[in-house]
Amino acid sequence: MSATAASTAQALDATHDPLASSWVESANVDGCDFPVQNLPFGRFAQPGQGADARVGVAIGDQVLDLSRAAPLLGQGANDALRAALRPLGAGDLGAFMALGHAAWHAVRAALSQGLRAGSALQGALAGCLLAQRDARMLLPCHIGDYTDFYTGIHHATSVGRLFRPDNPLMPNYKWVPIGYHGRASSIVPSGEPVRRPHGQLRAPDQEPRLAPSQRLDYELEIGAYIGPGNALGEAVDIAQAEQQLFGVCLLNDWSARDVQAWEYQPLGPFLAKNFATTVSPWVVTLEALAPFRSPLVRPAGDPAPLPYLHSAANAAAGAIDLQLEVWLHTARAREAGEPPVRLSRSDWANAAYWTLAQLVAHHTVGGCNLRPGDLLGTGTLSGPLPEQAGSLLELSQGGRQPLAVGGGEQRSFLLDGDTVILRAWAEREGARRIGLGECSGTVLAA
Ligand code: MN
Repeated sequence: MSATAASTAQALDATHDPLASSWVESANVDGCDFPVQNLPFGRFAQPGQGADARVGVAIGDQVLDLSRAAPLLGQGANDALRAALRPLGAGDLGAFMALGHAAWHAVRAALSQGLRAGSALQGALAGCLLAQRDARMLLPCHIGDYTDFYTGIHHATSVGRLFRPDNPLMPNYKWVPIGYHGRASSIVPSGEPVRRPHGQLRAPDQEPRLAPSQRLDYELEIGAYIGPGNALGEAVDIAQAEQQLFGVCLLNDWSARDVQAWEYQPLGPFLAKNFATTVSPWVVTLEALAPFRSPLVRPAGDPAPLPYLHSAANAAAGAIDLQLEVWLHTARAREAGEPPVRLSRSDWANAAYWTLAQLVAHHTVGGCNLRPGDLLGTGTLSGPLPEQAGSLLELSQGGRQPLAVGGGEQRSFLLDGDTVILRAWAEREGARRIGLGECSGTVLAA
């Protein structure tokens, strides 16, 4: 039973057919993040069309408005599909996350059929589309709790080296998925500006003072939304852990490095991290990512995970092969009409030491309850090479080595007016490329 349950999120079916196309023409364009094989969910408002939040599905450069499309998809459907569509029609993506994998699977199949070329529903569903540029994207759901992990082993090693050159990786790292409980109240959707935070700064040999952070940074991460959740006191077995994962997004864990350096001992991150976290608005389901699964690779000689962090399915395909990029658009470049510049590129499977299933198993092993819509962050996903780093702290070697960002400009850390853009996509032979869209935020003056 557990092997079957673990494999459901990884099973391929007609919704993944790489040859399928959509009657929404923009979804068929090469390099499009949202072809008919993706079908990510988000929540939006339409300025001028009432303030109500609605749930939509991204298809090409359009949004399928489920407040109107859900009843059409439910016509003649069985009770289970109609029940699964109900919260989507009502604008409550969190309630849909709570329904679990069978409901997600049924709705994905119905969306895939409805949006495919030749669908009998084309005429009716065409009236439920709006352009993505006309939708104001919101957070996908109420996020009750947010936990940020530290799964990027190359990030942990290079940041550790800045502080402890002789002993960069802490002895617990390869045994415990390290994390901390973050702050859910300051999570904002992509596009929302982020104000430079004040905090206690302490220059060497000086008294601490309250001032705007001078070492503002981003962190390239993937976020994952929890589905049904678990009861308090009941651990989630790793074989069932992917049943708890609805989907993923991009996540920028903005960080004030100078505040962090002074405050982090002994209890870890606090004000350096809690002023803002930006998430991309489209939640790409684990099911959409099924063609892009990878083995969990551990270097020879590393300790085997403790039994509660191991399953055959997780070892064979627990990782997800996702390409990641960070781009910077400075105020000067924007004003000059120049495009953003790419700061780094990495990939999730090679950056992360722990899989999402391991994070769920570890988070709950002591009995902690996860609830629908809770958000997990992976931690900074830096590649093994210096230029693949997912933060400026690493790229500038702690601020000592400013990097060129085009037009004669340099950065050690972010300046006011800088826009940070995260991008991710999955691409593999025999599958249709899908993307996560963008996670973007602009720094405002303190
Ligand atoms: Mn982080």
